[in-house]
Amino acid sequence: MEGKWFAYMEKYDYENILFCQEKETGIKAVIAIHDTTLGPAVGGCRMWTYKHEDDAIEDALRLAKGMTYKYAAAGSNLGGGKTVIIGDPYKDKSEALFRMIGRFINRLGGRYITGADVGTNMQDMEYIRMETPHIVTLPESCGGAGDIAPYTALGTFQGIKASVNELYGSDSLKGKSILVQGLGKVGGNLVRLLVEEGANVIISDIYEELVLKYQEEYKLDSVESEKVYGTACDVYAPCALGGVVNDDTINKFKCSIIAGAANNQLQEEKHAEMLQNKGILYAPDYILNAGGTIFDTDRLGVLGVHNQDRAVKNVLKIYDTAKQVFKIAKEDKITTAQAADVYAERRIAELKKLKNI
Ligand code: NAD
Repeated sequence: MEGKWFAYMEKYDYENILFCQEKETGIKAVIAIHDTTLGPAVGGCRMWTYKHEDDAIEDALRLAKGMTYKYAAAGSNLGGGKTVIIGDPYKDKSEALFRMIGRFINRLGGRYITGADVGTNMQDMEYIRMETPHIVTLPESCGGAGDIAPYTALGTFQGIKASVNELYGSDSLKGKSILVQGLGKVGGNLVRLLVEEGANVIISDIYEELVLKYQEEYKLDSVESEKVYGTACDVYAPCALGGVVNDDTINKFKCSIIAGAANNQLQEEKHAEMLQNKGILYAPDYILNAGGTIFDTDRLGVLGVHNQDRAVKNVLKIYDTAKQVFKIAKEDKITTAQAADVYAERRIAELKKLKNI
């Protein structure tokens, strides 16, 4: 095990890992900073139980790197970071714990900015805000952008249009069958946008009440959650869990496009190539689901204040970004997932040159 983390950091070029510990509150947390070429590292604060400490460290590092790529591709002047608190979000939370995290983050002097993630919520963010201004994902009453899911949905909607354009030569969603898996904060908003655009929306959720709610409101067809992957449709939009493109599902797909908001849709890198071989266009998840973070971090931009119009305009750019990614994939003969990474890496490399001046 000797040298493991330094070797990992070197391999993917991480800047810092900060270990945080405090006996009274029992806090154990890891703050990972991947790359601050484009600006301060931003990434949410996750609270989760991990079997081993190493799993928590690896999660923080992996997620921080993901944020670097997400912001770089989104055109934001931000880098990637992440906080992982080791603990049970249902049992171990306290005001003191989150304020302590706030103090650790504050010591970094703005090089890392946190936000909400799996296992943390707005209340936790308010506690962190009591100790540091270096935070996004706050309610409007605390100077934040409020609920960002509608903007994640808007960005995903743009990505779906770009994908449909790529395959069918037109942006129109009229009559296109689009299966939305997951009717939560993002999926619910996405359904509304798609229906308004004249798409033939099919819905699925494990919560029957949610399905009934949207069926009643929009008169939509639904499929049971086990039948999602084998349902014929133009677009399958995963908006629930990650890992939905895997060895089991890959042979069931009867869609032409996979374009949704769920994080980490591909279980492994090889699945991108497998989709390509099946002739299914995959719109990379972190390109499509960046709308919420673009909106949320708008006030971290040049002017330092949130501007609704500018933020929305930047969310709408996801259409162009997706098209650029498809273009790179074709030109470089690589998968769209690889093309998204190339797109992000090119922007970082270009702007790194600025630092020499
Ligand atoms: P959510 O918890 O509000 O909604 C998820 C929904 O998926 C729930 O209604 C749940 O019942 C349903 N679901 C779970 N398993 C399912 C299954 N097997 N089949 C069908 N439905 C199932 O979450 P959310 O905020 O809407 O996020 C959805 C996805 O988008 C997640 O992967 C999340 O990481 C990603 N994402 C969200 C945001 C955001 O702004 N909220 C931003 C970026 C990415």
